[in-house]
Amino acid sequence: MEIVILAVLIAVVVLGAISGLVVSGRKKKQLPPSPPAAPKPSVTAPPAEPHVGEEAETPRDEERRTIEEVTLPTAEAPEAEAPAAEPEAPVAPAIEVPEPTAGRLVRLRARLSRSQNTLGKGLLTLLSRERLDEETWEEIEDTLLTADVGVAPTQELVDRLRERVRVLGTRTPEDLRALLREELLALIGTEADRTVHTANGIGNGGDEIPGVVLVVGVNGTGKTTTTGKLARVLVADGKSVVLGAADTFRAAAADQLQTWGERVGARTVRGPEGGDPASIAFDAVKEGIAESADVVLIDTAGRLHTKTGLMDELGKVKRVVEKHGPVGEVLLVLDATTGQNGLVQARVFAEVVDITGVVLTKLDGTAKGGIIVAVQRELGVPVKLVGLGEGADDLAPFEPEAFVDALIGD
Ligand code: GDP
Repeated sequence: MEIVILAVLIAVVVLGAISGLVVSGRKKKQLPPSPPAAPKPSVTAPPAEPHVGEEAETPRDEERRTIEEVTLPTAEAPEAEAPAAEPEAPVAPAIEVPEPTAGRLVRLRARLSRSQNTLGKGLLTLLSRERLDEETWEEIEDTLLTADVGVAPTQELVDRLRERVRVLGTRTPEDLRALLREELLALIGTEADRTVHTANGIGNGGDEIPGVVLVVGVNGTGKTTTTGKLARVLVADGKSVVLGAADTFRAAAADQLQTWGERVGARTVRGPEGGDPASIAFDAVKEGIAESADVVLIDTAGRLHTKTGLMDELGKVKRVVEKHGPVGEVLLVLDATTGQNGLVQARVFAEVVDITGVVLTKLDGTAKGGIIVAVQRELGVPVKLVGLGEGADDLAPFEPEAFVDALIGD
């Protein structure tokens, strides 16, 4: 009896072993040829868990094969390559094509006149009064001073207007508009060269180097934004640009600039937070030369803690950049809403570095467009660009005619 039971048990074990071999043999045949040296990490993959959604229709046997098939090649390839490709594949940011710059001021004119018409329209209304007595002339003077035109230019303008109105005799609205247009244009100046100088320079080694533009100004005036917008202006005009994030004082400035750059495909050279602005500026120009870029725009930090500090920092940035070659343009960014304070800033910067052009920002938010006259007088350099909003293309080349037309309407 015992012998019979033992024989039955042996038979069961032998049969079980044989059927197991058959199943695993079938399984092997269905698999793709496996690489001989494949190590075992596939085994470490959770074998029992089916993929989400497969459970209902996939038999368990099939599921196991799926896992082996997937994991084997992974083990064969270096780990860093295969899985990295999928989740970390860099998504190239869409490069924007900014709108052309020609005639921007005319297009943005509505924004300008909304804030400025107190000046132009106010003057026209006063000049149209039947009797131009002393009181009226004083009101004209006040209107100009309120718009930040400045004391001396205001006096000059009023004197010329008085004289010309007297000679004119009868005053039709058209006459007055033409007269005021002419006098405001004379005050702003139509002769100055308002182009931003971005042409290639000759480097100290005798080769051509990119045009270099330093953007300076007190933090908060819109300096970094303006640098970004200017990059767009240049790209719109067909130039290639490298940006230098040398404002290492304000934590977010480099990121902000880089974002502007990425939108138009311009590389940003940056350094560690609080790093040496001069060395970043130097590297930016070096990169511009290596890339054969047309222009290098350098955003600088505008700390007015002490004049000496500013002088040291900006002076050094300029000197270090000049080791490559000339700086073509130094743009001072001023916030038009800061009035007299802006003029004080302008004076300090002008003592530290040779300003070659002014960018007046936030003209959309103020009725104090007269600052254009005052700052040009103060520095003896022209306003070259004006900021008319926070939008990416709200920076316009300054055109005196379009500006004055927006002030007084045509
Ligand atoms: P930075 O510290 O001088 O570099 O200043 P930012 O470039 O960061 O600008 C300060 C703020 O001014 C930001 O909110 C800008 O969007 C805003 N800004 C710059 N230019 C203009 C402009 O022309 N009009 C208006 N309304 N805002 C502006």
